[in-house]
Amino acid sequence: MPANLWDDAAATRQPALDGLVYRSTLLARDRSVVNIYGGNTSAKLTGADHVGRSVDLLWVKGSGGDMAAITEAGFAGLRLAEILPLLDRTAMTDEEMVEYLTRCAAFPNRPRQSIETLLHAFLPARHVDHTHPDAVISLACARDGQELCRRLWGPRAVWVDYTRPGFTLSLWVSRGVRAAPKADLVVMGKHGLITWGQSSRECYERTVRAITEAEEFIAGHTRGRKVFAGTAVPGLPPAKRREILTHMLPVLRGTISRQRPAVLQIDESEPVLAFAGSEGAAALSQIGAACPDHLVHTKRVPLFVTWTPDEGVEALQARLPSAVDAYATAYARYFEECRKPSDQMRDPYPRVILIPGLGMVTAGDDAQGAAVSRQLYHRAIAVMEGSQRVGEFTSLTPQEAYDIEYWPLELYKLTLRPAPGELAGRVAVVTGGASGIGRATARRLARDGAHVAIFDINDAGAKALADELTERHGTGRGLAVRCDVTDEGAVAESFRTVVLAYGGVDVVVSNAGIALSAPIDETTLRDWNRTMEVLSTGYFLISREAFRLWKEQRMGGSLIFVASKNSVVASRNAAAYNTAKAAELHLARSLAEEGGPIGVRVNSVLPDAVLQDSGIWDAGWRQARAAAYGIKPEELDEYYRQRTVLKVNVLPEHVAEAISFLAGPRASRTTGAALTVDGGVTSAYLR
Ligand code: NAD
Repeated sequence: MPANLWDDAAATRQPALDGLVYRSTLLARDRSVVNIYGGNTSAKLTGADHVGRSVDLLWVKGSGGDMAAITEAGFAGLRLAEILPLLDRTAMTDEEMVEYLTRCAAFPNRPRQSIETLLHAFLPARHVDHTHPDAVISLACARDGQELCRRLWGPRAVWVDYTRPGFTLSLWVSRGVRAAPKADLVVMGKHGLITWGQSSRECYERTVRAITEAEEFIAGHTRGRKVFAGTAVPGLPPAKRREILTHMLPVLRGTISRQRPAVLQIDESEPVLAFAGSEGAAALSQIGAACPDHLVHTKRVPLFVTWTPDEGVEALQARLPSAVDAYATAYARYFEECRKPSDQMRDPYPRVILIPGLGMVTAGDDAQGAAVSRQLYHRAIAVMEGSQRVGEFTSLTPQEAYDIEYWPLELYKLTLRPAPGELAGRVAVVTGGASGIGRATARRLARDGAHVAIFDINDAGAKALADELTERHGTGRGLAVRCDVTDEGAVAESFRTVVLAYGGVDVVVSNAGIALSAPIDETTLRDWNRTMEVLSTGYFLISREAFRLWKEQRMGGSLIFVASKNSVVASRNAAAYNTAKAAELHLARSLAEEGGPIGVRVNSVLPDAVLQDSGIWDAGWRQARAAAYGIKPEELDEYYRQRTVLKVNVLPEHVAEAISFLAGPRASRTTGAALTVDGGVTSAYLR
């Protein structure tokens, strides 16, 4: 039941556009009322143009914005007097409409007006809301929806049959409302709700009232039958689900990422488990989208995987590729049957995957995209449930769905996103990412577009960095994972955490390290073993887990070792460190040999003397190295600078730059290599 959240005091504090901004954010607080990126609101207000003349303006939400976070700048302002003559026309193409409305814009540098602008302009009310509430769409999508609305609202509701948004729909709505003086709402078949009012508050309260009435009506009409025809497969216990998901997600990701990498998200919520495991889900889920707004994010139908837990995880792993292929073939057929000659097929893989007992997996170009698909499919389940309660859920025909999915005005919304980075859709693990070279690398890979999991024993440092990455780059772009790379079980568990968060891994940077310096006769066995454990053994454990995953995922992979100049050149009083670093380099070469056949590249970077931001150099290592060279600790920077051919110091960002190159497609033909990042140390030249 949507709560009436209107608060006069808060509305007074947010007077922008006569309460339009306040109302819009209030409506979108409830995602069962306003879809993410969907819906639109407007206000018709008198204002001043750029020369100070009084002018009637239509303020309408910009195309593709999200109402939950909208500000005044998210609305376009159009000269109403130039729009209203369109009421006398009988037809207008989308291109003509966009071109025309763009010329009505009173203020440049505003977002492009919503594709449903005319719907708002043609209604005489001062304030108009167009939303997609679950309960109202349940009626709008029910087979006898028009009759149900008549029974519920009588003359208060105008019913308009489905047609794609644009000029014609706007005309139908306007004519319907003008012919129904008692109307205070419009239900658009298979689409959504329109309400209006003379004040922002009246408009908002009419929207809330219509939804409440629809919900009560549905509750009162629930027939005796079980929703979704009862349970076929109950949700598995959480631990069992997760065990299966960790083996199944990489296989799924590898299969649906054939054209471009996808990030996956799981949803094990109660409504999703109930729907996916219901008797009715296999058939019901294939009827079609619950709202036109969902289509570009969820595709017309999800992939429903026929499987029961009794069959076991191997059967599921084996079935997924053929199920995905069958989906892609059906999608290509749908495209061919509905396309216009100039259309280009989008990737044919599912965005929503339902698996009885396990729940739902959604796919996106990034974590945010997967989250949007997930949110929207929750809405779809709620709508299907409502329709089934009052009658029978129906959806757009395949051609109607296609005309939305491939509608240039809908696809325009996707173009508003920033251009994808080189590692977009990729998932990277950086060990020892909480400090120094690891932290700079995590930042750099995130800037390249990757989702970055930071493995470290420094929880607070990893968390702070993950928050920073998410804040800077968006939902889910940073993930802190407590992991001691010397602990076999912890390493395996940490990879499982990443798989459950993103579906898989593409880039692994093995970097976590310590440094101990002592002459050989003073090196304790404990220090020797500890150095070997964190460096050589830690690198082995991380690599082994990455390889295990990559063999299931079948998307190749890129493994990068942060080795050292000391991997190739011995230095005084650091025998354990030098030996461990040399072992890493040879391990990398060995793994390059093993990785080749499965498309996994393994390379190393060899930094030297990266003093800035480094935990290693804050500890005893600085004193010990200075002592080894017979200089004072504060002279080390200059000492190392002079030691290089280029006479420079090396910063963590320089190492991160080399890792960024090796991680992605620019180094697609490079494996088994070692790249020095040391300012030029002659003794470390590779040969
Ligand atoms: P740093 O101390 O700043 O960072 C190392 C990180 O590794 C820390 O966050 C630490 O908490 C983490 N870590 C340590 N032990 C761990 C464990 N068991 N499990 C998980 N995380 C652990 O060091 P840095 O200078 O950034 O060095 C990073 C890597 O670069 C190391 O492998 C080091 O050998 C190598 N390297 C550094 C230099 C340099 O001059 N700084 C030069 C060449 C190579």
